[in-house]
Amino acid sequence: MLPAGMRMNRLLCSVSLAGIVMTATSAPAPPPSLQPDLLIVNAIVRTLDDARPVTQAVAIRGNRILGVGSDAEVRALAGPAPRILDALGRLVLPGFNDAHVHFLGGGFQLAAIDLRDARTPSEFVERIERFASRLPPGGWVTGGDWDHELWPGSPLPHRKMIDAVTGAVPVFVNRLDGHMALANSAALERAGVSRNTPDPAGGIIVRDPQTGEPTGLLKDSAMTLVSRVIPSPSIEQRLGAARAATAHAARLGVTSVQDMSANEDLGVYQELDRRGELNTRIYGFWPLPQWEKVVALGVRAGFGHDRLRFGGLKGFSDGSLGSTTAWFFDPYNDAPETRGLASDEMLPEGLMRTRVERADAANLQVAIHAIGDRANHEILSIFEHVATTHDPRDRRLRIEHAQHLRPQDIARFGRSRIVASMQPYHCADDGRWAEKRIGPERARTTYAFRSLLEHGAVLAFGSDWTVAPLDPLLGIAAAVTRRTLDGKHPDGWVPEEKISVEQAVRAY
Ligand SMILES: [Zn+2]
Repeated sequence: MLPAGMRMNRLLCSVSLAGIVMTATSAPAPPPSLQPDLLIVNAIVRTLDDARPVTQAVAIRGNRILGVGSDAEVRALAGPAPRILDALGRLVLPGFNDAHVHFLGGGFQLAAIDLRDARTPSEFVERIERFASRLPPGGWVTGGDWDHELWPGSPLPHRKMIDAVTGAVPVFVNRLDGHMALANSAALERAGVSRNTPDPAGGIIVRDPQTGEPTGLLKDSAMTLVSRVIPSPSIEQRLGAARAATAHAARLGVTSVQDMSANEDLGVYQELDRRGELNTRIYGFWPLPQWEKVVALGVRAGFGHDRLRFGGLKGFSDGSLGSTTAWFFDPYNDAPETRGLASDEMLPEGLMRTRVERADAANLQVAIHAIGDRANHEILSIFEHVATTHDPRDRRLRIEHAQHLRPQDIARFGRSRIVASMQPYHCADDGRWAEKRIGPERARTTYAFRSLLEHGAVLAFGSDWTVAPLDPLLGIAAAVTRRTLDGKHPDGWVPEEKISVEQAVRAY
């Protein structure tokens, strides 16, 4: 774990890293426009800049780092009356960049029901009852992030567990991976989902094996059957959620995020920025299936300004391990009837490839979710094709999660400069039960942080908030120790894939 002094990085919340490294020679006093208004002194400043990795002090003006150096060097830069902050010998790091968040959803979660740590089905039911009883009329119980893997015997929840305590209040609460959700009967009724509703492509309506009635559980694309009838929040509610998210990020030292589901939220962030309340730099993505709209606009990756930019397009190639919808070459060990599922964006065959090619040709950055080894293999092949046949440029094609890789696929990331955008906290979390699902052999190249780095890959770390907590220190600890949340792997789950604190910080 990191020293407690790491809290100091919160001071750098609105500071850009594009600073200059000062030389040791004493220079004449800088002109007023280059005089710092804040000095951080008496710190251990780890710059992550190989030219001068550790220094003592930082000089800041507005949102720019003017320089780093010794206390004396930095004080020599000071104008008439800078604020001086004595770090008391603690650690100062550049602000963290979280490469994969669902930012506004995170803000809503801060105000929504929390089922993440409901450790038994009865605790799950009680919390839903309490929340539903306090809702204003017309409200829905949504969010939740429940995890049945915490429950004794891991039984999946059923609408009958909550119908009696929620009555006419519709409930639609998701599993923490976002690939499965439970609706109560009131919600199913509003959505018109019954035993006669067919499974949509890329999704499953879980049914009682005897009666054929829906149990209330909906997987992947089937979740939209209910989510589409939930009334959308007002603009003020959305601004409130964005405000909560940016405050939460600032407290954790997260100064910039890459929002995988920015979509229509870009306007909310723009309004928050106009009000002077946006304290996080946001790089937003749009859904890949809507690529034509973005191409028609003529917008390219990086459109925007310092605080709010448009990044590119995000697609899906499979589901998740927790919902047995991650797409593998071989069957699941604990569900031999399935190898998981290619997402509906992969069908018909060739569609994903066409979309990626067109988006890349329009200078848009492409990020694709891939969890299972088959999904990763397929997306790597598409990306390699683009990287070798399209004009060379800094395109930063990225695979989101890159969770389970066949050993022979690991080197492909570094070779074709494909970014592995990974969320190390998932390793601490899924590591509790992943092996029963995929077996020990496949587990050896799961969350393969170290192997990826050794093969020259760029690792971009993030949290996947709200799937996992936003706090980067938890992610760093997970990558460094590979301890699982249940304490069953004190020396690390697949310890060969541990990385150093510095490597993990760099990936953030
Ligand atoms: Zn995500």
